[in-house]
Amino acid sequence: MAALGPKLRRIANSHVGFFCPACRMMHVIRIGGDRGQGPLWTWDGNEDEPTFTPSIYVNRPGRLHNPAVPSCHSYVADGRIRFLNDSTHALAGQIVDLPDLTGAVGDQVKGTA
Ligand SMILES: [Zn+2]
Repeated sequence: MAALGPKLRRIANSHVGFFCPACRMMHVIRIGGDRGQGPLWTWDGNEDEPTFTPSIYVNRPGRLHNPAVPSCHSYVADGRIRFLNDSTHALAGQIVDLPDLTGAVGDQVKGTA
């Protein structure tokens, strides 16, 4: 993964990832590439205080749901994550800053890369 500002990592040319402090893992979304490859988000291009639309719903309830990890539904806007109330982790309903991918978080990210 390549650095892309303090809060984002670029994966190939088509995806970016950020560290979710609720799930303690990277969430990766597709922001480019060919149509038909799956969900596509819009990124405002701001590397320091990114905004993605629409919302990001990780481990959504349904056929592919993994009961071992939380559901995480959020909006990332202006470098902050707003966790919606249908998230099943401790930060549901809260707004937190996107963590910088350095220090302890950076070490965790290296472990997942
Ligand atoms: Zn999460």
